[in-house]
Amino acid sequence: MIDIEGAEKVTIYNNESLFFECETLPEHFVVIGGGPIGCEMAQAFQRLGSQVYVINRGARLLSQEPENVSRILQDRFEAEGIAVYNQAEVKAFGEGSARIVMKGKGDIELPCSAALLAIGRVVNTRNLGLENAGISLTERGRIKVDTYLRTSNRRVYAVGDAAGSYMFSHGAEKMVRQLWNNLLIPFSRKKNTQEDLSWVTFTDPQVAHFGLTQKQMDKQGIPYYRQDQTMESDDRAIIQEYKYGHLSVWMRPYKDVGSRTVLSGSMIAPQAGELIQELELAKHARVPIGKITERVYPYPVATRINQKTLRGVMSQGYSEWKKRLARFAFRLKN
Ligand SMILES: Cc1cc2nc3c(=O)[nH]c(=O)nc-3n(C[C@H](O)[C@H](O)[C@H](O)COP(=O)(O)OP(=O)(O)OC[C@H]3O[C@@H](n4cnc5c(N)ncnc54)[C@H](O)[C@@H]3O)c2cc1C
Repeated sequence: MIDIEGAEKVTIYNNESLFFECETLPEHFVVIGGGPIGCEMAQAFQRLGSQVYVINRGARLLSQEPENVSRILQDRFEAEGIAVYNQAEVKAFGEGSARIVMKGKGDIELPCSAALLAIGRVVNTRNLGLENAGISLTERGRIKVDTYLRTSNRRVYAVGDAAGSYMFSHGAEKMVRQLWNNLLIPFSRKKNTQEDLSWVTFTDPQVAHFGLTQKQMDKQGIPYYRQDQTMESDDRAIIQEYKYGHLSVWMRPYKDVGSRTVLSGSMIAPQAGELIQELELAKHARVPIGKITERVYPYPVATRINQKTLRGVMSQGYSEWKKRLARFAFRLKN
């Protein structure tokens, strides 16, 4: 929760109360927060019939994602009437209104029938007496665990949101699987890493990501080659009207391009969460991209965009003499 002046004058929902207590559609719905939950709920309410205003303190929606993805999503949101205010905060609520302040624009008064607080969730570890069991917490109240999910009390392990760095349902599942593995087969213990993290924001279009983000790779000094692919000329995207779609793939920058393997990927498109799974599998199994570009995809399945992106990488690997030879053969033929 956050303290906002006049909060008692409007109904403010959070992730727990929204689904159970919101019985009438708010005419003007102010969504505070431009993260995944804020974006998903903003679009859902706009489509149900509310006029939605997203008030986002950050410079862009979904700040974890690459910048171009945030821009595309905001364009899609605005095209369906959602008003997005970045670098903005709600300063006060009045009767049926919200006063926001936006960087460079000053105060703005918006109509507001109800608001949703979607600024992130805090782990609730207070009042459990964890300190009596010698279990330490991080500054943000999460249970401190080592890479094997063990807490500072060596007989206690923690998984899921409470243990933190991985706040997704599949993150909790993964941690539980890892823990079982480590307890049952202690000689082949698995580490809890961020590298196999993946997530999908279920907006329309969906936003999907797997692997470390570019920022994380930069921070860890991991070398990569990045390939970007628009969906402008993809036949399936043309037919189904998502030419705005975009895919970025990061891979190990081996000199032999065909042997490069995928490190991470990011996609915005309808069904991106499904489409990107093929690349995620390639990453997991360390499949060289040359193997994927050899595949024959039925025309026009949407996953052809994965292959097209990697073909773009392959073509850059052609040596100058191969390119000259191809040009020469082409001229001969024509
Ligand atoms: C609106 C919303 C949308 C989301 N969408 C997605 C999504 O699309 N995909 C995704 O992967 N993740 C999503 N998440 C995140 C996902 O819900 C969590 O990461 C996941 O539920 C974490 O599982 P968990 O078991 O660690 O915690 P929880 O599911 O929160 O379970 C914790 C349980 O412990 C109980 N509990 C709390 N305190 C105590 C106590 N003292 N004693 C006993 N029991 C206690 C709680 O009642 C609860 O049942 C979303 C979250 C929100 C809020």
